[in-house]
Amino acid sequence: MAQPNGDKLKEIIVIGAGVIGLTTALKIQAQGAYRVTIVSETFPTDPKSSKYTSHWAGAQHVSDTCKDQRQQKLDRDTFDNQVVQPKGCFLRHTHIEYHEENLANAEWLHYTPDFKYLEINELRGPAKMGFSFSTVSMNTPVYLNWLLSSFLAKNGIIVRASLQHISQLLERGTSPFTGAQLHRDVDALVVCAGIGARTLGGVEDKDVFPIRGQTVLLRAPWVKFGRALNEANGTRTYTIPRSNGDVLCGGTRESNDWYPVTRPETTEDILVRILQLAPELAPPQTRIDRDPTVEDLRPIIIETGCGLRPGRKGGIRLEVEWLDVPTRGKVPVVHNYGHAGYGFLSSWGSADMVLDLLESAFKAGAPADATPASGANCI
Ligand SMILES: Cc1cc2nc3c(=O)[nH]c(=O)nc-3n(C[C@H](O)[C@H](O)[C@H](O)COP(=O)(O)OP(=O)(O)OC[C@H]3O[C@@H](n4cnc5c(N)ncnc54)[C@H](O)[C@@H]3O)c2cc1C
Repeated sequence: MAQPNGDKLKEIIVIGAGVIGLTTALKIQAQGAYRVTIVSETFPTDPKSSKYTSHWAGAQHVSDTCKDQRQQKLDRDTFDNQVVQPKGCFLRHTHIEYHEENLANAEWLHYTPDFKYLEINELRGPAKMGFSFSTVSMNTPVYLNWLLSSFLAKNGIIVRASLQHISQLLERGTSPFTGAQLHRDVDALVVCAGIGARTLGGVEDKDVFPIRGQTVLLRAPWVKFGRALNEANGTRTYTIPRSNGDVLCGGTRESNDWYPVTRPETTEDILVRILQLAPELAPPQTRIDRDPTVEDLRPIIIETGCGLRPGRKGGIRLEVEWLDVPTRGKVPVVHNYGHAGYGFLSSWGSADMVLDLLESAFKAGAPADATPASGANCI
């Protein structure tokens, strides 16, 4: 039975509790006119797995969106928001990008504080150009849990469920998964399923594909800078310092590679590359005595990791679709997935756009030709 909605708040369900789902849920919740529930198979408090990409991210604000103007706005809006986030989650630091290819400029990053191009004598290895700027990195596990606890503290609701189809939420809300006798009718769904958008019924977006990334997390509190080398063959080697003294090092970008755990030979390759790029990663005492080797890094390895970035042909899907639910009428579904390697750095900008799309959809109402939720007889 549908529960009377005395407080007139609209019921919104966000699918997914990665950085995108959590940020989007917080943004919608803050508007004040909505009761927000997150339904997800995985939460930040769960053990790390390839089904939850956000656990594995750097995560650093280094936008590399040279031409896409929408993406540039999402990244910038997120940067403006991140500089006012809680201090314990973030580390402000100087980051240097080296490029083997001689890019004409990096004007999409000119908004970052202290941006400057490197002089020829400041370049390293095969680099032909480079630039430095001030940015932030996120201590990923702490930040994700901070997002979740902020959502719960403002009366957000969470439900654990592995959805087979988005229509499972449209008939009687979350009650199939909570066992509740009463339910509230859902006014809108927001899909933030990351790589899961490829297989989640009712979405099944075949433009979504994995971009596998493997990393090594080091304990190196003496390193407070970020550095990255972009080789002409596409290899990107990077170090990202975190506020707690850990440094995330990588990496790889392997499109359509679903292998869910680390490959030992890749770990070895990363160790060699990061030591070349940043010998300062080795403990200071060893560097006084001699040139550091990979053996000096092994004792400070905390863990190796690998995640599947949710790539998408055409970029992030940010749009509204209306589903025709026979028992209920038309319900808007807002999509927000496909953030590839830039989910943290574009999370708040994407969430702003979702709220705009949601409010515009409620204002305009459903078009005449809404899509059936899942075949004519589903609901
Ligand atoms: C090695 C590496 C380094 C990275 N570095 C950076 C960086 O420096 N900066 C940056 O901005 N980004 C970085 N990224 C990218 C970033 O991690 C991703 O863009 C981001 O985590 C995507 O978040 P998401 O919420 O879309 O996906 P996820 O974190 O995967 O969350 C998806 C959620 O949807 C849920 N879900 C999916 N399907 C279902 C279903 N059927 N039923 C119920 N729930 C479902 C999952 O359980 C999960 O909670 C990096 C990624 C990797 C792998």
